[in-house]
Amino acid sequence: MCYDGRMNMAARVADIRERMRGASVRAGRNPADVRLMAVTKTYSREVVLEAYRAGIRIFGENRVSEAVEKYTDFAEDGELHLIGHLQTNKAKAAAGLFPWVDSVDSLRTAGALAKRLEECGKSADILLELNTSGEDSKSGYRSFDDLRRDLEGILMLGALRLRGLMTVGPLTGDAGEIRAAFRSLKTCMDRLCGMVSASCRPDTLSMGMSGDFEIAIEEGATLIRLGTVLFGKREV
Ligand SMILES: *Cc1c(COP(=O)(O)O)cnc(C)c1O
Repeated sequence: MCYDGRMNMAARVADIRERMRGASVRAGRNPADVRLMAVTKTYSREVVLEAYRAGIRIFGENRVSEAVEKYTDFAEDGELHLIGHLQTNKAKAAAGLFPWVDSVDSLRTAGALAKRLEECGKSADILLELNTSGEDSKSGYRSFDDLRRDLEGILMLGALRLRGLMTVGPLTGDAGEIRAAFRSLKTCMDRLCGMVSASCRPDTLSMGMSGDFEIAIEEGATLIRLGTVLFGKREV
């Protein structure tokens, strides 16, 4: 949870990877099944490059416009994810830049994204975002039933590959409440896997941030999203 400004980036990444490994082992999981995303919102391209040099290859940004500044002509082997809410009118810009859109929460947005991707002969991996905390300020489907209503339509969009689910845990110090939210997302993931055909095998469960990533790993996360613990407290 603590960011240590005296450590350099490589040491911080090593420290985090060790904590990820510990949580995996505690849960009887293979540490190789959990990937680390660096969330770079508000940080400069310089910082992004530093993280890249420290071995990070998955990056997340909340806003399309901010990502354009930082990730245009980025490393070929870097994998950029959009993790913030996607507005339908930003779908075009997003389609050109993000190979992954992790925050899809409506058929309408998915359709707009797919249309733009098709126009430029591209495709994208997507996650569906589920609001597991019940907090109104958060985006994402309100319930698995809401998500399920859109599922068939989303699966028909040829430019999108459904890879799994994403959530932001509740904003609380109550570890039990956080764990319950992550556990409910894992249950939804299992249900989703049971509903889709063998050709689409969702494999990505994105949950866990700086304050709760170890709990998320214990509950089955395959992708965690870290900002503060890697880069320090954000100014804005
Ligand atoms: C900012 C953000 C993160 C990273 O948060 P930290 O607490 O700084 O690790 C992860 N996921 C989403 C969706 C975010 O907006």
